[in-house]
Amino acid sequence: RAKQQGKDNFQLYTPEMNKKALEQLVLANHLHKALNRDEFLLHYQPQLNLKTGQIVALEALIRWQHPELGLVPPDQFIPLAEETGLIGAIGEWVLQTACTQNRAWQLAGLPPMRIAVNLSARQFQQKRLSKTIARVLAETGLDPSYLEVEITESIAMYDVNFTICILQELQDMGVYIAMDDFGTGYSSLATLRRFPLHTLKVAREFVNDITTDQKDAAIIKSIVALGHGLELNVIAEGVETLEQLKFLHAVQCDGMQGYLFSQPLAADAVTQFCQQQSAGGISLSNFSQKLE
Ligand code: C2E
Ligand code: MG
Ligand code: MG
Ligand code: MG
Repeated sequence: RAKQQGKDNFQLYTPEMNKKALEQLVLANHLHKALNRDEFLLHYQPQLNLKTGQIVALEALIRWQHPELGLVPPDQFIPLAEETGLIGAIGEWVLQTACTQNRAWQLAGLPPMRIAVNLSARQFQQKRLSKTIARVLAETGLDPSYLEVEITESIAMYDVNFTICILQELQDMGVYIAMDDFGTGYSSLATLRRFPLHTLKVAREFVNDITTDQKDAAIIKSIVALGHGLELNVIAEGVETLEQLKFLHAVQCDGMQGYLFSQPLAADAVTQFCQQQSAGGISLSNFSQKLE
C-alpha cells in the first residue's frame, strides 16, 4: 500500500507538473480542512416572478472564505470537491445551511420563498440522497415545498432511469426540481418529458445576446414554448439589462434571476432586500422607472 502511494507521489512530482496542478494540490489539502474550520458560506440570489412581481425563490450559492486567497468562487473548488469525494460532506452542509436559513427567514416573518440548492453529480448519484434531504427537512423544520433542487442535464442524463427514480422520490416528498443551465447539455426532448420537473432555468449563454442576436432570441422563445407545453416554469438566468428583461417579459418567460434584479447576497442583506421589495412590490413598469 505504502509502495503504491510512493509510486503515485513520485508520478505527481514529475517535472511536467505545472503550476496549476500544484495549486490544485494545495487547494485540495486546504479544502479538506475547510468544513471543520467553518470557511464555507452561502450567498443567496433572488429569483423574480415576472407575472406577479414576487420573489419566489433564492438560489443558494456557495463561497469559500479562504484565509489567504480570499473569497473563492465555486467553479474553482466544486470540481475538486467532486474529484476528492469531499462533495458529499460539503453538499450536505449546503443543504443543512440553506434549509436552516430559509426556516429562519420564515420565522422572522419574510414572505415565504423557496430555497434552491445546486446538486453536484456525485451527490446526486448517492443512493441515499432523498433520505438525506428528508432528514435535513425534518431537522430544520422546513416544509418540503420550500426547497428546490437544481440539477444539470449532464447529471440527469448520466443514468436516465436512476435519475427519474430519484427525482420521483423528491417530487413525491413535495420538493421542487429545476433543470439548471438548460440548453447547454445534451438531454433529448424524449428524455426531458420523462423527468419529473417543475422548472427549466435557461442558461445564461442564451440570455446574453437575446436583444441583438435573432437566433438566441428564437432559442429563448422556443424554450419558453417547450417549457409551457410540458407544463413547466421557465426562468432565465444571468439577466443583466432592462432590454433583456423586457424581451423575456414579452415572450412570457415566467421568471428571471440576474444582476439586473440582484447580485447574490449575504444572508442579512437578503432580509433587507426582501423587506424593501415587499413594501414596494415589483411590476415591470416600476422596475423600469427605478432604473431610469
Ligand atoms: P449556477 O447554478 O448556474 O449559478 C448561477 C451563476 O451565475 C452563479 O455563479 C451566479 O453568481 C452567476 N450569476 C447570477 N446572475 C448573473 C448575471 O446577471 N451575470 C453573470 N455574469 N453571472 C450571474 P457562482 O455563484 O460563481 O456559481 C457558479 C456555479 O457553481 C453555479 O452555477 C453552480 O453550478 C455551482 N455552485 C454554486 N454553489 C454550489 C453548491 O452549493 N453546490 C454545487 N454542487 N454547486 C454549486
Ligand atoms: Mg444553479
Ligand atoms: Mg445556472
Ligand atoms: Mg452553472
